[in-house]
Amino acid sequence: MRIICEENLNKKLLDLYHQLQTEHGTLKWWPADTPFEVALGAILTQATAWRNVVKAIDNLKAADTFTPEQIHAISQDELEQLLRPSGYFRMKTKKVRAFVEHIVERPMQVMFKQNVPELREELLSIYGVGPETADSIILYAAEKPSFVVDTYTYRLLSRLGWVEGNFHYARLRALFMDNLPHDVELFNEYHALIVRHGARVCQKTPECQACGLQASCDHFFNRI
Ligand code: SF4
Repeated sequence: MRIICEENLNKKLLDLYHQLQTEHGTLKWWPADTPFEVALGAILTQATAWRNVVKAIDNLKAADTFTPEQIHAISQDELEQLLRPSGYFRMKTKKVRAFVEHIVERPMQVMFKQNVPELREELLSIYGVGPETADSIILYAAEKPSFVVDTYTYRLLSRLGWVEGNFHYARLRALFMDNLPHDVELFNEYHALIVRHGARVCQKTPECQACGLQASCDHFFNRI
């Protein structure tokens, strides 16, 4: 993946943020009550819609199995049944179990005392925690500035004409990390706005007629 527009990226990124805010308002993510619930959601949402994550989390709550210790204490089969609605439930059960085993030994509040690179490295060392999951946990659970990118981010920036080539997580994240102030609220809201825009407007088949970014979008001009 190559960054095409390298000039004034700081201003361009802030302009895009304000345009998305004008389109979608203030979102105030993440829909969870505790840092542990955020982390659990970040693992369970891999390759599935959020509504399926909610069903799995509701199952855990209904079974009174919602602390790391309680999840750690139940069997693999029991946990698989509770997580079944989240899709790929056998693999996700292994991932949740690996995460819980880690934080039973080393609680999240202890891990979260580290700076972002140290915390990121520790999270990435846990089975099932990839870069997007690690950054989601850092940003939305630890409330530290680590920008989260995903396929919505890639699709939007490639359609706008800012990047080309195949999706590359580290390069796309660096584009935001290197050109924006490291501000938790900004990162939190920016990622949420990109996801909202990708889910409702700049979808696989984009709804360009309903999009306020037309004037700055290569994809839109190439279509007309
Ligand atoms: S104009 Fe169309 S392609 Fe461009 S960002 Fe908007 S929805 Fe996506």
